[in-house]
Amino acid sequence: RGPAAEREVASVCPYCGVGCQVGFRVRDGSIEEVVGLDGPSNQGRLCVKGRFGFGYLTHPDRLRQPLIRRDGAAKDPSDCRDPRGALAKFREASWEEALDRAAEGLRRIRDGHGPDALAGFGSAKGSNEEAYLFQKLVRTGFGTNNVDHCTRLCHAASVAALLEGIGSGAVTAPFTAALEAEVIIVIGARPTENHPVAATFLKEAASRGAQLVTMDPRGSELDRHATEVVRFAAGRDVAVLNAMLHTIVTEELCDRQYIAAHTEDFGLIRDHVAAYAPEAMAPIAGVPAEQLRRVARLYARARTAMILWGMGISQSTHGTDNTRCLIALALLCGQVGRPGTGLHPLRGQNNVQGASDAGLIPMMFPDYHRTGDDLFRARLETLWGAALRPEPDLTVVEIMHAMTRGQVRGMYIMGENPAMSDPDLAHARAGFARLEHLVVQDLFLTETAALADVVLPASAWPEKDGTVTNTNRQVQIGRAAVTPPGAARQDLAIITEMARRLGLAWSYAHPREVFAEMAAAMPSLANITWERLQREGSVTYPSPAPDAPGEAIVFGDRFPTSTGRARFVPAGLSDPAEMPDEGFPFVLTTGRQLEHWHTGTMTRRAEPLDMLEPGPTASLCPADLERLGIAAGDRLRLVTRRGAIELSARVDPMLPPGLVFVSFAFAEAAANLLTNPQLDPWGKIPEFKFCAVRVERA
Ligand code: SF4
Repeated sequence: RGPAAEREVASVCPYCGVGCQVGFRVRDGSIEEVVGLDGPSNQGRLCVKGRFGFGYLTHPDRLRQPLIRRDGAAKDPSDCRDPRGALAKFREASWEEALDRAAEGLRRIRDGHGPDALAGFGSAKGSNEEAYLFQKLVRTGFGTNNVDHCTRLCHAASVAALLEGIGSGAVTAPFTAALEAEVIIVIGARPTENHPVAATFLKEAASRGAQLVTMDPRGSELDRHATEVVRFAAGRDVAVLNAMLHTIVTEELCDRQYIAAHTEDFGLIRDHVAAYAPEAMAPIAGVPAEQLRRVARLYARARTAMILWGMGISQSTHGTDNTRCLIALALLCGQVGRPGTGLHPLRGQNNVQGASDAGLIPMMFPDYHRTGDDLFRARLETLWGAALRPEPDLTVVEIMHAMTRGQVRGMYIMGENPAMSDPDLAHARAGFARLEHLVVQDLFLTETAALADVVLPASAWPEKDGTVTNTNRQVQIGRAAVTPPGAARQDLAIITEMARRLGLAWSYAHPREVFAEMAAAMPSLANITWERLQREGSVTYPSPAPDAPGEAIVFGDRFPTSTGRARFVPAGLSDPAEMPDEGFPFVLTTGRQLEHWHTGTMTRRAEPLDMLEPGPTASLCPADLERLGIAAGDRLRLVTRRGAIELSARVDPMLPPGLVFVSFAFAEAAANLLTNPQLDPWGKIPEFKFCAVRVERA
C-alpha cells in the first residue's frame, strides 16, 4: 500500500466478464491503488489484473493527440509487428482536422460506393452507452448493418444456440448460483486463469460439498477440487456430450415432467442420441465409456446442477452444436430456472454481454431483435428518426473477407485490435492495409492503428462514467477516477462528433442521456435507470419493478420463445476444419493467460503483469518436448498453413500429448498468424481452439 489516497472512486474492473467492483484510490490525479469492493460478483475479491493491471493508464505510449497518416506514407502490414516504429508515418493534428478527415473519408466511400462499402467494429471494452451509440452510428450514419465486435470471436456460437434453444443469449443464472448446486460442470473453460474471481466461488462450492466435474482437453488448476476430471480429445465435444445425452435418455434419467411442461421436440433428441452410446463414442472422445456414463448419471441425478462453459466450447466450427448439446443436457434434466441450476456461458470481456445486448452485432438490433423483425425495426426507426435496413449484413470475419475482395473500402474501429485478434492475421492485416480509409479510436497506436488513416486518442475505462453488464446480467456503473492524458477525449464525445459530421443531429452531453434512450429502446432495461445505478451500483436485469431486485435466476415458468417452451436441437459429429497430418502433426489451441488480457494492449503496459509474463511461450507436455529433444526455454518455431511464429518452449504437464497452447497476447509472436479462419455456420465464430501445426526448433 502506498501513502493514503485522497479519494476512492467506486467503479468496475475493466478486464473480464466477472465484473468485479473496484475502488480506485486516487492521489495527485493518479490511481495509486485498486481495492476490491463488495460487489455482487466479487464480494471484495480481485485477481491480479484487477489489482495490478492499471499501469497502462499513464504509460508513455498513451496517445495524447489525434494522428493523421502523412501524405505518401504507405500502409504496410509489416508495421503491425512494431506499431511504435510506424509512428513516424503519422503527424499530429488538431481534433477539428482529424475528425473532419475521418468523417470525410467515410462519407466519400458511403456516397460513392454505397453504405455496404463501410463497416464498423465497436468494443466490448467500452461502456453500454458507447456500444449503443456506435451501432446506432453505423446503422444510421453509415446506413449499413455491417457492425460487429469481439463477441463474434468469443461466445457467438453460444449465443446462437441459446437464442435458438431457450430464446435468450444471456445466462440463466449467475455463477454464484453454483454455491447452491449439488453438481457443477465446468466444460471448455479455465476459470482460474480467465475468470479468476468466479473460480473462487466454484472452489468455495466444491469445498462446501458440491461435486465439481471439469471437462476439457487440457487440465486446469480447478481439477484439484473436482470429483470427476474428464480429459477428452480436442475437438470431440459433441461425441462426449451426445454420449451423456444417450445415457440420460436410455437409462430413463430424464425429468419427464419438466420435459412435458417446458420443452418441445424431445422426440428429435431422443431419436438422435440413440446412435451415440458411450461405448461407441469412447474411442472418438478419448474417454472411457464408464466415465461418460458416470458423469451423465451424476448430473442427471443431482437435485440441483449447473453447467458453466467458456471458449473451449464456443471457438469452434461446431461451437453452436457444442452448445446445443449443453442446452439439451439441462433441459433433459430440468436443470434450469431454480436456485442452484442453470446454463452459464462465462462471458469474456468486461462488457461483452452489455455490448451485445446494446445491438453491437450485425444481425440484431438492441435486445436481440432481428434486423428483419419489421415491427421492432419500425419502432426503432420512430425512436431514432432514421430509416433502417432489414438485411443482417456481415460479421467480423466476413468483413475481413469483404475487405480483401475490395467490397468493404472504409472502416471505423473503436477500441478493438483486430490486427491481433482476428484469425489468419496475414490475410486480415493485408485487408486492413488495402482499405481506402481506416479510422481507429484507441488508447495506443495498436497493431490495427498502425494501418489507419486517422487515429483518434480515446479514454480508458477509469477515465469515464458509464455502465457495463457482466456475465451475470448485472448492469453496473463505473465512475471516472482520473482524467484522460493530453488531448485524449471521452469516446462518447468522439462518436457524437463523428455522427454530426456524417449528417446526424446528435447532442448527447452525458452517458446518462444515452442510457435513458437505451432503456426506451430495450425492454430488458425496464426499471433500471441511471439514478438507480448510481444509488445501488449494480442491478440485475430483468428487474420487475423500480424498487425490486433484478431476477438473478430466470425461466422457471416459461422461456422467452414464441411458444414459451425451450427447444431440443440435435447435433451431429463433425471433424474440426483442419485435422493434423504428416506435415502438421500437432494441434494448436490458443487462449488467454491469467496475467495478460487479450491482445496485450493494456496488460503488457502494466508493469507488474508484464514482469510476471514478459514474453510469448508455446506450451507442450513433457513427453512431447522430450520426443522433440527440446527443453523448456528453447526457441521454437510453430508453423501452420497460414503462417509461422517463433517463441520459447514451456513445459505444461496439464496438456495432453499432441496439443500445443499459445496465448494470443504477444505481438512479437502473434498466435493468430497461425489460426484457422473457418467459421461455425450459425455463430460465424472462427476455430481458434483447433488447427494443425508443426513444431520445429528455431
Ligand atoms: Fe477483473 Fe475479472 Fe480479475 Fe475480477 S476476475 S479482478 S473482473 S479480471
